[in-house]
Amino acid sequence: MNLRIHAFKDGITKLGPGVRFGLWTQGCPRKCPGCMTPDSQPFNGGFEAEVDKIAEKIIASGRIGLTISGGEPFFQAAALTELIEKVKAVRDVGVIVYTGYTIEEINACNDPNYIKFLNECDLIIDGRYIDELNDGKNGRGSSNQRAIAITDRYNNFVSEFGTKSREVEFFYKEDSFSMVGIPSKEMLERLKKLK
Ligand code: SF4
Repeated sequence: MNLRIHAFKDGITKLGPGVRFGLWTQGCPRKCPGCMTPDSQPFNGGFEAEVDKIAEKIIASGRIGLTISGGEPFFQAAALTELIEKVKAVRDVGVIVYTGYTIEEINACNDPNYIKFLNECDLIIDGRYIDELNDGKNGRGSSNQRAIAITDRYNNFVSEFGTKSREVEFFYKEDSFSMVGIPSKEMLERLKKLK
């Protein structure tokens, strides 16, 4: 099976507890005004990769935390379930997923692939981004988004969710840099001007 991917990054620390492997899927139909990753919206963007190859990268990283964001991860629920199962067969990895769906919408879809994927997660951050509700708090883009524990693995993260200011981190590579985390609106505007 293949995944359509926007990006991946090993060693991230601002999208969940500890040092994690980050994976951003490609394709999202919502077009939320103010989306910080508009390049991840087109379904024909990004690149395709075999699930096996991405699983190998995650396993080789040695990380015990995996954060999946998008794009919309649930549109690739079956492939992501396969990916997580392959990694968990080697290591007990903790999984956080950022989704534009609410958990009520996921359950209402009644799609077995969605439910299987949900059951592989330890925590989801749910709901679309609403620019007017961007309050600058940690872990989320806007205050409608909730941290929903599927297991108790990340209880500490859940209890601190939305209580502090945000932090982001930058990765430099030759003449380019990338940012991981959820920036404040002001920082995002400044970064857009740099592009
Ligand atoms: S759901 Fe997320 S990825 Fe999709 S448009 Fe909204 S903010 Fe962007």
